[in-house]
Amino acid sequence: MKIGFGYDVHRLVPGRKLILCGVEIPYELGLLGHSDADAAVHAVMDAVLGALALGDIGKLFPDNDERYRGADSMNLLSEVISLMKEKGFSLGNLDVTVVAEKPKLAPFIDKMRENLANAFSVGIENISVKATTEEGLGLAGKGIGAYAAVILA
Ligand code: MG
Repeated sequence: MKIGFGYDVHRLVPGRKLILCGVEIPYELGLLGHSDADAAVHAVMDAVLGALALGDIGKLFPDNDERYRGADSMNLLSEVISLMKEKGFSLGNLDVTVVAEKPKLAPFIDKMRENLANAFSVGIENISVKATTEEGLGLAGKGIGAYAAVILA
């Protein structure tokens, strides 16, 4: 078994979509980035790459590469999952914590879990997505962050 950990943050700005775990969430601000800036999926990819000691998503999908401009991070995750399978591993379980002051993510959590479960071809009971705030004390508010932990087996 291998364990991996990932972390990512993107800045909230006007004029961008807010996409987390492949779910478009209605909000007045969205996340800024070269791709769709799905911080939660980025944390998941870094956790998987970390478990396999294959570097990070910046190495795999450089942000100066035009191929990844506006990229759907769920498609990038599929590439990471292919790499994981090539190495002979599959997902044991995944635990994601999204850190956001706003908007309320509870109505979208199950869809996020479903998207990740489908991507990894595992049952939804192996995918946890949680949301928390930082009580106005941290980065959240200016941006949205995400932590992810995985076990590969
Ligand atoms: Mg990122």
